[in-house]
Amino acid sequence: METITTDVAVVGLGAFGSAAFWRLAARGVDVVGIERFGLGHPLGSSHGVTRLFRVACQEHPGLSAVARKSLELWTALGAANDEVYVNQVGCVSSGAPTSRPVAGAALAAKTAGLPVTHLDHEQFTAAYPMYAEPGIDENTVAVFDPEAGICYPERAVRAQGEAGIAAGGRALLDTRVTSIEFTDAGVRVLTPTVIIEAKQVIVSTGAWNKKLLPELPLGPRRTPLFWWKPKDDATSSFDLSSFPAFIHELPDGRHLWGHGSSEDHLIKIGMEDSEAPFTAIDADTVDRYVHPHEDIDQLSSWIADTFPEIDPTPVKVIPCMVTNSPDGQFLVGRPGDDPRLIIAGGDHGHGFKHAAGVGELLAQLATGEELYADIEFMNPNRFEEVAAARRVATAV
Ligand SMILES: Cc1cc2nc3c(=O)[nH]c(=O)nc-3n(C[C@H](O)[C@H](O)[C@H](O)COP(=O)(O)OP(=O)(O)OC[C@H]3O[C@@H](n4cnc5c(N)ncnc54)[C@H](O)[C@@H]3O)c2cc1C
Repeated sequence: METITTDVAVVGLGAFGSAAFWRLAARGVDVVGIERFGLGHPLGSSHGVTRLFRVACQEHPGLSAVARKSLELWTALGAANDEVYVNQVGCVSSGAPTSRPVAGAALAAKTAGLPVTHLDHEQFTAAYPMYAEPGIDENTVAVFDPEAGICYPERAVRAQGEAGIAAGGRALLDTRVTSIEFTDAGVRVLTPTVIIEAKQVIVSTGAWNKKLLPELPLGPRRTPLFWWKPKDDATSSFDLSSFPAFIHELPDGRHLWGHGSSEDHLIKIGMEDSEAPFTAIDADTVDRYVHPHEDIDQLSSWIADTFPEIDPTPVKVIPCMVTNSPDGQFLVGRPGDDPRLIIAGGDHGHGFKHAAGVGELLAQLATGEELYADIEFMNPNRFEEVAAARRVATAV
């Protein structure tokens, strides 16, 4: 079997991995990327045409710097390719003043000094007349993040991978990594057709991360994407410019996210934070069928409650996967401080916007450069089982 030697192997060229591959190759690092499918494929977590891009991140104020790094890198890549990878139409985070979208976006904006606008109830309902009771109530207010908008997962992953190849990175597509062996000299990455010997490996296999590193406390979940259209007699505009990216907390604490119609003329709306009916899955055997009642009924009723001018029967549904971590934050760093291993995963359903920024962090970790942001909250060693597993593995 052929053996390839390299400095860094990147396993999984999805959102995070293709970005790491690109950022390493751009530095002149000898890097080999291994991807079991193709660049921008629809079988992992990075498909479905669009993702919300937010800078005032409700999930953690420390994420604003990462989103801004993605914006900087994707803007430069877009200029080089004559493409747009982020459409900055803005994002409306709405709910009660203490809700996670509103309080979280306000905290991120305050921490990072972001130019957001606060909308009181009257301003919110005047600007966004498509929201109705009981999906909103008199307490509903909003934070508008003008740097936000939507981004394009398939196009960005392909562009990142191709930029890495153009810069000298070697990409092995349609090649599945079966295991990773840790040696004194580094790592041996095994596939059915080729062995890659590297000084270090970045594991960025998304919903499959646990397959290669079972100690990771990650739970992949099947989470469909949904598209909708306005009713024929709708008076509100649901174009992207009138109905930009949003995350909304209903008065009873449930969450909707989405954006108005753009290139495909469809509205995209999904739900968040709903354990049921979405359950932890094995990414290799994920159910790729759509089930009319189990998948759709709950979200249809939430949409009917909140946006009565939208037809509550979806036009299109496509299963996707998110990979939850116990605390909702990513795992980016060196498990057990092992110099041979870097992990990037636990996207928790909000990772795409950070892909290029995380790729830059992964490249900085691999090359020993100073990190451009404080990412201690992503340190995988905050989970003792992760650090312990690598300590044991290193001792063996
Ligand atoms: C319904 C839904 C809505 C979302 N909405 C948003 C949003 O609005 N905004 C946002 O920022 N994020 C959003 N996300 C999250 C975002 O899509 C993910 O965070 C991101 O795509 C995760 O990227 P990843 O690199 O971890 O995984 P992936 O992009 O899936 O990459 C993993 C790659 O590893 C490859 N791989 C796996 N195993 C192997 C192996 N053994 N050998 C070789 N290759 C392997 C896979 O083929 C895949 O290409 C959403 C996700 C879903 C599902």
